[in-house]
Amino acid sequence: MNFFSLNKKAEDVSFKDAVISGIAPDRGLYFPREIKPLPTSFFKNIEDFSDHDIAFKAITQFVSESIPEDKLKEILTNVLDFPFPVIELEKNVATLELFHGPTLAFKDVGARFMAQCLGYFSKDQHSEVTVLVATSGDTGGAVANGFLGVKGVKVVILYPSGKVSDIQERQLTTLGQNVSALEVDGNFDDCQEMVKTAFLDSDLNSKVALTSANSINVARWLPQMFYFLFTYKKLKSKGLPIIFSVPSGNFGNICAGMVAQKLGMPVAHFIAATNVNDTVPAYMQTREYKPKTSIATISNAMDVGNPSNFVRIKELYENNFEELKKNLSSYSFNDEETKQAMISIYNSCNYIADPHGAVGYLGLKEYQKNVSNAYGVFLETAHPVKFLDVVEDTLHLDLPIPSKIAQILDKNKVSTNIRNYKELKSYLLNN
Ligand SMILES: *Cc1c(COP(=O)(O)O)cnc(C)c1O
Repeated sequence: MNFFSLNKKAEDVSFKDAVISGIAPDRGLYFPREIKPLPTSFFKNIEDFSDHDIAFKAITQFVSESIPEDKLKEILTNVLDFPFPVIELEKNVATLELFHGPTLAFKDVGARFMAQCLGYFSKDQHSEVTVLVATSGDTGGAVANGFLGVKGVKVVILYPSGKVSDIQERQLTTLGQNVSALEVDGNFDDCQEMVKTAFLDSDLNSKVALTSANSINVARWLPQMFYFLFTYKKLKSKGLPIIFSVPSGNFGNICAGMVAQKLGMPVAHFIAATNVNDTVPAYMQTREYKPKTSIATISNAMDVGNPSNFVRIKELYENNFEELKKNLSSYSFNDEETKQAMISIYNSCNYIADPHGAVGYLGLKEYQKNVSNAYGVFLETAHPVKFLDVVEDTLHLDLPIPSKIAQILDKNKVSTNIRNYKELKSYLLNN
């Protein structure tokens, strides 16, 4: 199967070429030419399949000839070596914990999958590939960890100075080897803009082979459908319609859930929950898509003013707003509401949610005010310890530090400060 550019001014490419180039030459995001539904019998009998089988069945049509079947299976086994627990907190309310991977955020799934694919592709490449990635918090750590030590691949991470948590910063600045971190004087949108400019700079691209590991890359985006399918398998026996509430920033995660639905997975509704960066909730109200400058919040991984994957969601619904509206509700919550939700989840369920999960919980509760007979799952996208200060201050407790995190706390941060695109380019040409 091939991928086309959503800007429609570039040629179709294979999975391999889409992964290696990240974004199309016309600046469009790649999108699969076709999404073939899986047989209904697969969903009927999904409990008979292992999670590895489910993941293989879901992704194989997209990868097609780019990776042989046995290699793809091996990649999936390496990527999916941690659990995805679904924990019921209230009647018809459960959380899907996506933070059991090495960097304690859901991005481990996509980052590891992409790293393994690129590692496979670069085996027969002579020159090095540079992965250039902007992070609002968790992407950096997941990408750094996923690509650490992958031969033939160099990783350069841009992050907004002072706008990521201490643990997040250490996860991307302490690894060394083939991973380096650039600390940008600006916000996440500035980082993302510089990365996009780099991909369009033909002079730079003639000298350095660049690719992106943001969720614009199909190998980061598509594997995120796996855990929606695993969750469906677990909840199917409840016999209730299932709804997913996804705390959203760049909208890659929720868009992958929608691909799982296109494959035939029964889902009654999606909820995109955001912080005050409400470009999509506003769009769902007004039909007008107006990107904004991002605002800093306590759920910093969602501080995105112009969500890059929303064009993919529109494409999935063939730009039919009414159809999209039937399937998607979107709500925005401020930091005060988020903290109140963290407190109420803790007091009534004895569960510690991180600020992103709490936004997801709020979205779910908002939707369930009108729809009672559906089973709701909100995604807990990161471990609360990644947002240590906010969680401890809000809940008045001390969080135990997991060993995966304790290891990095006494390592030294190594980063390079940059202020603008010129400095980024000179870094890429000289390092
Ligand atoms: C990246 C991230 C999000 C947002 O995911 P998108 O796919 O960009 O919508 C939400 N929560 C956490 C903890 C994240 O790291």
